[in-house]
Amino acid sequence: MAEHNPVVVIGLGRFGTSLALELVRRGTEVLAIDHRPKITQALAGQITQIATADATDMEALRQLGVPDFYRAVVAVGSDIEASILTTSLLTELEINDIWAKAVSTQHGRILSRIGAHHVVFPEHDMGERVAHLVSGRMLDYMQVDDNFALVKTTPPKDYVGVPLGRSNLRRKYGVTIVAVKPPDEEFTYATADTELSYGDVIIVSGRTTDVERFAELP
Ligand code: ADP
Repeated sequence: MAEHNPVVVIGLGRFGTSLALELVRRGTEVLAIDHRPKITQALAGQITQIATADATDMEALRQLGVPDFYRAVVAVGSDIEASILTTSLLTELEINDIWAKAVSTQHGRILSRIGAHHVVFPEHDMGERVAHLVSGRMLDYMQVDDNFALVKTTPPKDYVGVPLGRSNLRRKYGVTIVAVKPPDEEFTYATADTELSYGDVIIVSGRTTDVERFAELP
């Protein structure tokens, strides 16, 4: 049930705003907090509950009912002091699931140490992802673990017209083709009988270095 619980989003910069709006779009109730009235006024009506308050003030958090929330996201980034203070107050309030945005490795380390359960590095992660997209044939890239990725790409020419079961892809490149989308059709799971064609889009999974190598094949 925790997944459907309301979420507190603190700090409505670019990251916090798009996060809050996406949560609302997906049907999650959101309490959004920012200390800049201009921001909260601009978003009023688009978010379930929105408040102008300083999140480093424990009394303000209590008055807004923050202690009743299961989950909170500290989306304050550039003001590192405010991010750390706010996170430590949420820890003190024993919020069960605290997410915090970090702008550097050191910042992230501090956030974890003071009790953030998840630390995200949106700028760093997006930079890494875009590097993958601009440097090869990848159409999309998602790192799902330290050394495991999912990649959206097109079939290398040597693998067009060969049933995947006979392609030796897993042995040769360590990758698995998970799904295939022919032009103007939907994605379907790939099977041993699937034959790739030019114009298909494929989803490939495997160790990061392996999928990178595969996506560089002509
Ligand atoms: P982004 O890079 O996503 O735009 P920023 O770190 O620049 O993120 O924005 C953070 C937001 O957090 C800003 O809108 C700012 O007004 C807000 N903020 C900063 N400190 C506090 C605080 N103590 N209490 C509430 N909101 C804060």
